[in-house]
Amino acid sequence: MTKPIIEVKNLAKNFDKNVVLKDITEQVDPGQVVVVIGPSGSGKSTFLRCLNLLETPTSGQVSFDGQDLTTLDTKRVNALREEMGMVFQSFNLFPNMSVLENIKLAPMKVKGMGNDEATKLAHQLLQQVNLDDHADAFPTSLSGGQAQRVAIARALAMNPKVMLFDEPTSALDPEMVGEVLNVMQDLAAQGMTMVVVTHEMGFAKSVADRVWFMDDGYIQENSTPADFFAHPKTDRAKDFLSKIL
Ligand code: ADP
Ligand code: MG
Repeated sequence: MTKPIIEVKNLAKNFDKNVVLKDITEQVDPGQVVVVIGPSGSGKSTFLRCLNLLETPTSGQVSFDGQDLTTLDTKRVNALREEMGMVFQSFNLFPNMSVLENIKLAPMKVKGMGNDEATKLAHQLLQQVNLDDHADAFPTSLSGGQAQRVAIARALAMNPKVMLFDEPTSALDPEMVGEVLNVMQDLAAQGMTMVVVTHEMGFAKSVADRVWFMDDGYIQENSTPADFFAHPKTDRAKDFLSKIL
């Protein structure tokens, strides 16, 4: 039995009286790709942010690599958080830095990597996302698809054990969605553990190991994509799929 890399036990989260996550117990094994889907407002982003403690759970446990993050002090949470790359819908690149500098920043500042090594790493990662010819460009000159690929390269620069994606293609023009999904698919094929919130059902079908359907504060279904799309078990999932497919 492999040990899970992420383990969530009885996770609950409210914002005041708004109970967003009610009781979630799930795990992610190393190398797995989990796609989280569900209606808007069902708590997908909140759930993802609880995984790296960007949101503090109201109750329950979130373990990463065998350590319960909810019991650790800020310093140790920060250290573990470095091992979880996160990519958001909005790319959040530093506008005043070149693409190369954006990628070099965290390894140099946080890990104390030297300039030469960081430069080499950044070029390698830019090749991986097919953007090495844009190393000296500034974020404002990039298309959305290019910016998102830089954001992925930047997250990878910290050599994370897990990548969390929150609707990484939702802000993109349709013609740019594919180039970002391709990079994510490559990453999955290389064995990266990934938790991906997305509405891209094609990606879920072809890349996910598991689909988690979230609604009403629970993971209502945890299935293989083949099972989920062919035989959704709950009325909620059937209703959701009828609206999006
Ligand atoms: P999803 O990503 O599935 O669309 P979210 O996790 O963004 O859902 O939001 C779930 C619910 O939590 C919504 O009702 C939203 O208003 C609420 N919420 C999310 N973040 C916050 C916050 N920082 N403060 C208060 N309420 C929040
Ligand atoms: Mg969201």
